[in-house]
Amino acid sequence: MDVIIKNKHRIVVLVFLIGLGILYYCSFSWIGWIIWIFCFLIIEFCGAYFIQLNFHLQTTNKLNTIKPSVMLSFDDGPHAKNTPLVLEILDAHQIKAVFFLIGKNIQGQEEIVKQIVDKGHLIGNHSFSHHHLIDVWSSKRVLDDLKQCQHLIKQYQPQSLLFRPPFGVTNPNIAKAVKQLQLHTIGWNIRSYDTSTQNISEIKQRILNKLKPNSIILLHDRLDVMPKLLNELIPEIKNLGFEFSIELPKPTND
Ligand SMILES: [Zn+2]
Repeated sequence: MDVIIKNKHRIVVLVFLIGLGILYYCSFSWIGWIIWIFCFLIIEFCGAYFIQLNFHLQTTNKLNTIKPSVMLSFDDGPHAKNTPLVLEILDAHQIKAVFFLIGKNIQGQEEIVKQIVDKGHLIGNHSFSHHHLIDVWSSKRVLDDLKQCQHLIKQYQPQSLLFRPPFGVTNPNIAKAVKQLQLHTIGWNIRSYDTSTQNISEIKQRILNKLKPNSIILLHDRLDVMPKLLNELIPEIKNLGFEFSIELPKPTND
């Protein structure tokens, strides 16, 4: 299974190239070429954008617990104002979570990172720069960026190898860097889309509608709506009989 998953992208490229050869050999019209290239680009786009497809690298997208549990994961912190508020709420409910930190945001917010770790939460690498063009960077530049963040993360939680790709997008260069740094990529199976709206009821309902045992929920602690959202969301999740957990399964091939 490991081999099949790892080679998904390579298999698609190989099939694509064979198809191009056939089109050339059979002197297909330009329409055939366009359709074939279009199909390839759609598959590549889906493989890069939908992390759950494990197209470029193996990701953990759900928990592996016996009891019905969910995991809260927060991207893009630490945030000077909102991360401490999120930590207070998690404390009040005695919940542990995972924070995927942006390296450049750690600078100047070291005390907050210490608090996150001291309170028993996990931290992970969310790249140093979170650069909007990281997906088109060279493999060396991507590696240097992830390495720079990993260096900071290890100062606070030396055993941490957790990684979540910026924007959730994966590609061969990110996969290569992840492999080299031996990181464990964590995806999600509930995307809250909390960055697209400030309507708390809408975000909450979207999460609750998709909730199932072992869900990993993607949230952003930098958002102003987050404290209020968590204050409403956590009790409702508890009322549905779920516990909160950060027990992630062991990586299978990283
Ligand atoms: Zn992010």
